Amino acid sequence: MRQLLFAANWKMHIGPDEARAYMKAFRARYHRREDREVWFFPPAVSVEATAQATRDRGDLLVGTQDIYWEPKGAFTGAVSAPLALQAGARASLIGHSERRHVFGETDDDTRRKVGAALAAGLLPVVCVGETLVERDAGHTLAVVVRQLAAALGGLDGAALARVVVAYEPVWAIGTGRNATPQDAAAVHREIRGWLERRGTPPHAARVLYGGSVSAKNAAALLTEQELDGVLVGGASLDPEGWAQLVQTDAA
Ligand code: PEP
Repeated sequence: MRQLLFAANWKMHIGPDEARAYMKAFRARYHRREDREVWFFPPAVSVEATAQATRDRGDLLVGTQDIYWEPKGAFTGAVSAPLALQAGARASLIGHSERRHVFGETDDDTRRKVGAALAAGLLPVVCVGETLVERDAGHTLAVVVRQLAAALGGLDGAALARVVVAYEPVWAIGTGRNATPQDAAAVHREIRGWLERRGTPPHAARVLYGGSVSAKNAAALLTEQELDGVLVGGASLDPEGWAQLVQTDAA
């Protein structure tokens, strides 16, 4: 059975009380399905509340939107992988385009963060994707492969099997523009090939698409078998809408 992963990135929205209310509303409308998992990436302050609201549901998982690579110490404002784990996180986004382009995160930072996540037992969800300028210059695959090599190049197949990759073209995030299903699938094929050539066991590689995914375009995107799921920002903020989106079947 094809397994789909629907991941919600709440960005800087939804505090702890709102997270409890959100999960109540979501769970009232979405009941477990064997063919899909739903992951939530709340802001750090809401991880514990969200994790508590998913404790009895093995198909629901909570992660952080970012981690710092050091396990502890004098790093004001940062959250480490072991601290995230204590709060109930089981995964972390790494290298999201807003971290790269708003906060100046480098390829080398993503490598350190992936290592820290794996060392602590968090599943890294590594985000890659090109800007519009890079796309127009025909550099999409070169950029994606550079980002993969930087973040994951040192890992063996067993470690890679625990990594999820999200292909998120920067020009599609929060803009209402999204890659066509065929364009997304072509990049996913490259990513999957890259992972498998480095020892990721067949069928273990999971590649999500992100960038203005909505209830309107999700079915067409998921019709591409190269997509193992979606990473969704704006359209995940409303629990009723998100409950509807995660029940999308391929067209
Ligand atoms: C994201 O935040 O990863 C994202 C894809 O956002 P949006 O769905 O709003 O484009």
